[in-house]
Formats: sequence, structure tokens, C-alpha cells
Amino acid sequence: MVQFEDLIEKVRRNSPDANIELLRRAYAFSATEHEGQVRRSGEPYLGHPLEVADFLADMHLDSVAIAAALLHDVVEDTLTTIERIEEGFGPEVAQVVAGVTKLGTIPFSSSEERQAENFRKMLLAMVDDVRVIFVKLGDRLHNMRTLGHLPEAHRIRIAQETKDIYAPIANRLGMSKVKNELEELAFHHLEPRAYEALRTKVEDRRRVTEGQIEELRQTIATKLTDAKIPIEYLEGRIKRLFSIHQKLKRQRINIDQVYDLAALRLVTHTAKDCYAALGIIHHTWSPVPGRIKDFIAMPRPNGYQSLHTSVVSERGFAFEVQIRTAEMHRVAEEGIAAHWKYKEGRIGANRDEQYFLWLRQMLEWNQEVRDPQEFMQSLKVDLYPEEVYCFTPRGEVKALPRGATIIDFAYTVHTDVGHQCIGGRLNGKMVPLRTQMKNGDIVEIVTAKGRRPSRDWLSFVVTSRARNKIRHFINAEEKTRATEIGRKLLEREARRCNIRIRSKLTAQSTTRLAAEYGFPKIEELYAKIGYGKVAARHVLGKLVPQSDLSEQAAKNEVSAPTVGNVQPSQERITVRGFDDLLVFRARCCNPIRDESIVGYITRGKGVSVHSADCPNVLNLLYDPERRIDVAWDRHDDLTPYIVSLAIQIEDRQGILADISARIADIDTNIKNIEATTSDDQRGRISVTVEVRDVKHLQRVLGSLRGVTGVLDVERAAR
Ligand code: MN
Repeated sequence: MVQFEDLIEKVRRNSPDANIELLRRAYAFSATEHEGQVRRSGEPYLGHPLEVADFLADMHLDSVAIAAALLHDVVEDTLTTIERIEEGFGPEVAQVVAGVTKLGTIPFSSSEERQAENFRKMLLAMVDDVRVIFVKLGDRLHNMRTLGHLPEAHRIRIAQETKDIYAPIANRLGMSKVKNELEELAFHHLEPRAYEALRTKVEDRRRVTEGQIEELRQTIATKLTDAKIPIEYLEGRIKRLFSIHQKLKRQRINIDQVYDLAALRLVTHTAKDCYAALGIIHHTWSPVPGRIKDFIAMPRPNGYQSLHTSVVSERGFAFEVQIRTAEMHRVAEEGIAAHWKYKEGRIGANRDEQYFLWLRQMLEWNQEVRDPQEFMQSLKVDLYPEEVYCFTPRGEVKALPRGATIIDFAYTVHTDVGHQCIGGRLNGKMVPLRTQMKNGDIVEIVTAKGRRPSRDWLSFVVTSRARNKIRHFINAEEKTRATEIGRKLLEREARRCNIRIRSKLTAQSTTRLAAEYGFPKIEELYAKIGYGKVAARHVLGKLVPQSDLSEQAAKNEVSAPTVGNVQPSQERITVRGFDDLLVFRARCCNPIRDESIVGYITRGKGVSVHSADCPNVLNLLYDPERRIDVAWDRHDDLTPYIVSLAIQIEDRQGILADISARIADIDTNIKNIEATTSDDQRGRISVTVEVRDVKHLQRVLGSLRGVTGVLDVERAAR
């Protein structure tokens, strides 16, 4: 077991500025809190935090991290609170301890690969200080080393979690030394028989192999020395059991077919030395084609750099060689932690910026960071800024975009759960539908039979899945309504012409009618009538002879069942590909020929046409699917448009006559003219004129503005 004084010695050696006093207090506090507690092994509990602290000291981490390691279990296992840690050791230590404690409370239940990946991301997303991960990995490593003392069920669960979650996290962070040991230990506990069998077989070959490795090692050492290539470290070893095991499984071979059981690792000074050494090795032995990898020129995503090659010795003994510099070696073993040099408050700008870029690249973080320096000083990380991870009540992890709400979550469970969602419980508490979730939240959806999605939901959902499902539901509902309206419109049109529609609509005739418009079912045609895409009268014309379409009964028809008092009429506007459509000019803006216009499919009334700058257009077109292209019909009669104008005038005698004369001068019909005056010598004239098109209207406006005493002329809504 590690002794505290040895730990202090190690920390001092690594960094003279370490806060030894902080460590002493943390140790004393931890000793008091864990007093009397023992591990399953029977050893005093305190040995565990000491081992974790020692692991961090080996990685040259700072005093805050080591102090947090000493204290990492006091909140979970004793009555101490985070507040007490903060009082005694400051906010940084407390934050790391709180982070480790929080991670400890997350239950991991599935080893399904996608779930495991989400879970790993969630763990990382919940971490706001990288040191939390270091402590957690040290904790896990020591627990795995002492796993033998636990009952089998626990052992399997922890080993599985280590294999699925913690080893991949260590790998992701480039900490291969930890990753390798975690994998090896997990393999041992998860597949004890395979592990033992493999170990025995490798043992059998060890003596022979080791002899050969030593021979090769000496050959290389001599050649490198002759070539004046510095050797910092040159070691031969037999590969890890887990990696041999994986290779056997992957390639479906047995141990005798594994040719490169041995590996040599050379650590030298510079990248140039690495390439020179590679040349010497290839000159000495034959390289295996396809096995040369240059991770110096092309580092792995987690920052790993090295040259790899496999060669065959003169005796036919194959082995792998890894060549790297000391710096690359440290990064290879410690990954992210290697970049975490002892700082104690001093931040080296360049190094940190580099580190940061590397971290970002490593974690595939694509967001721009405004001030990496500040970011580093706070030691804050947000490893997955775009996602949020939460649990279903059964412990399944769901990954959602940041800002996702209860409704978004409901739709990831099931479409019907989304449709019928009325609320949610977040960590047991009822919350409204628009509530956004945070990492680690346990979300339970509350549904009610018969509840339907509301258009309102579209304003706050963030996932495209939820959006599409809600839209789809609403559109389907609208289509049902449009079908009903379409049927009624057709019936009304028939009544108007004194046609008994029911007798005309036989099974055959409706099928034929639908087919004529290109629809498989008559309901589709009704829906088109209801949306205003096809005119009821046009459809009727296909059912009865044209001569029957006179409106004898029109006078009996008091009011149409359509909304408002607009009577659909044939307008001089064409709509995208259709030549006979229920089109009307919107009353609000009353567009006239050649104005730029937009069409909007109303429910049951047809297409309403607005002037493009009508203020209602923006409001109406919130549903882009109902927008339709419209254009003024070219070959048209010259029936004029009725336009009202509002004229502001100075109140003077004869102005009304002047205005009338000016309008008549340019060949324009006045339908109505009215004048009102007010006390302030101002007056207002309303005039209704007939114009042919926009150009004509412009001429009228221009000439009116030229009348003495006219202050302003505006087009008025009818
Ligand atoms: Mn622990």
C-alpha cells in the first residue's frame, strides 16, 4: 500500500511549487472521515483514496486533482457534505469531488454498443472539469485491481462497465496505459477461462520468445549506437493478453498462428531519429508488407504519434516495432493528462492553446471557442456542447440536441407517446411540456388517451423527428377537414344549379371522376376542392352536361357555408398549372393587375390572393405548404379594378372639383367621392376609382399629387 509520505515525496519531486499543505489537510480529513471503514479486502479504506492520489501524482497532475483524489469518496461514503469540502479546501477541489460523486450515481445498465456510446458521451458531457475524469479513472483502476475481493455478480457488473465505458473513455482521451490495464483486468474477470487458457499458452512460449526478443533488442541497440541514434528507452515485451485475444477472435485463428506475439518499443529524441531508426531496422530485417504505419505524419484522432512496423528476423521470428520520441511516448501513455503539466496557477499560453486545439480535435468538437486562454484558466470543459443525454425510467440513455424538450423526448420513445403526451416527470417532478432537459435527467412521459398534438408545439420542439411527426399529424387532420369541406362545396355548387348530386355520385362515377383528376380515390379530389386547388364547379362540369350548369337557383341561396362573406368568383389570376381554380383577391389588400402577388390556399374558400407586401401575408404564410404560386392572367378582358384612395388636403374652396376634374382628365371613372373636413383646416377626401392595372393607378396617384392643396394620397383598404 502507498504511504502518504511517499506520495508527498513523489509530488515534491515532480513539482516544487505543489501545495503540500493542502494535500496534508486533505489526507488528514479523509483519514478522519473514513476512520473505521474497511475495504472488502479487509484493508483500511484510506488505502483506496491514497492509491487514486498516487495514480494522479504519477501523471504529474496538480495539487487540486490530488487533493480531490484523497477526498473523492468522503461525500459518497460518509456524512460529509460538498459544502464542508468547499469550506475546507476551496471551490476547485469541491467541484472536482462533486463531479466524481455525481458520476458515481449514474446507473449503467446496458452493454448494447449504441447505448454504451451514448452513456460514455453522457458521462463526458456531465463533466465540467477534466480532472474529474482523471480521478474517476484512477478510482476505477484501483477498484479493478482489487476486484477479486467482491462477490461474482458485482465483479461481472463492474468489469463489464469498465470494458464498455471506462476503457473506451481512457482510449478516447489517449490514455493508453490506463486503457490497457483496464481492458486486461476486465478481460480477466469477464472471461476467466479464456483468460487463463490464453495466459498458459503465452507462458509456454514466453521463455523462447523472451530469449529471441532479448537477442533482437541487443542487435538493434548496437546498430543504433553505431549510427549515433540516441536511445532513451528500448524494451521488448510480449503483447497484452487482451490484444492477442482480440486478434484471435477477429482473425479466427489460434495462438500458434499469431506470428507477432512480441513487440519492441524504441524511444528516441527527435522525429528525424525515429525515421532514421526505422531505416536501420528495415535494412536489417525484412519488413512485412502493409504493416508500416506512420502515425507521426498522420497522428491518430486521440493525438497518438508513433512509427509502427512489423519485421521478420533471420530466424523467421516476426515481431512488431514501435518507434517514437519521448514526448510522443508520454502522450501515448497518458494522453490528455500528458498535456496537463504541473501548473499551479501558471498558464503557458502557447502550450495551452496547442493543448486546447488538440483536445478539441480529439473530441471532435467543432464549435468555435472565443477565448481558449480563459477557457483553460477556468479548467472548464464542455465536451459535447451540442447534445444532452437523459435516461428513460428503465435506464436507457437517449441523446438529444441541446434545448430538447419533454415533447422531443416523448417522440424519441414512440410516435404515439409523443402524440398523446400531456406532461412529463423530470427526476420525479411534474414539469410542463416545453421544459428543456439537462444531462443525466431521468425523464418519464405522462400521456393521456385521446390527446392530440397542437400546432403550438412546433414553436418549441427542436428535433426534426418531433417536428415531422407533429406536422404530419396536423396535416392529416387538416386533410380530413378539407375532404369534408370539399364534399360540401361540391354539394352546394350542385344545389345552386339545381342538380341532384347524390344520384350522380355512384361508385363508378366517383372512381372515374377521381381518375380524371389523377387521384385513386374520390376523397383525394374532395380534399383538393376543400384546399381550393380544384373548383367545385369544374368538378361538377365533369358530372353533368355544361348546359345544366346555369345558376337558376342562385337567388335562393342566401349565404354560402364558407367563412366570411366572400363569394368565390372567377378572377383573372392563374395558379400554377391549374386553369380553373377558385381564386379571389383578398379584401385586405385588394391587389390589382400587375401588382406582385402571392397565393394562399384557404380552407374551403379556394386560393386567396394577396399583394406581396400585404401585412397579412407574413402572418398567413406561416404554413409554407399552403403557399401557391399565382400570376396575372395575360389574355383577359379589360374589366377594371375598383380602388379606393384616401386624399389628405388643405381645406380650400373648389378642391373637390379640381380633384374630380384631374381624375376625369386621365380617362378614369369615378365611382364615388366623399369629402370630410376637420377643425384644423385639414380635410380628407375618399374617392373610389376604376383602374385597369398598376400602371394606370400610378398615373392617377401622380396626377392627384400634382393638385394644389393635396398633401398626401394613399391607397385605402376597401
Ligand atoms: Mn473510490
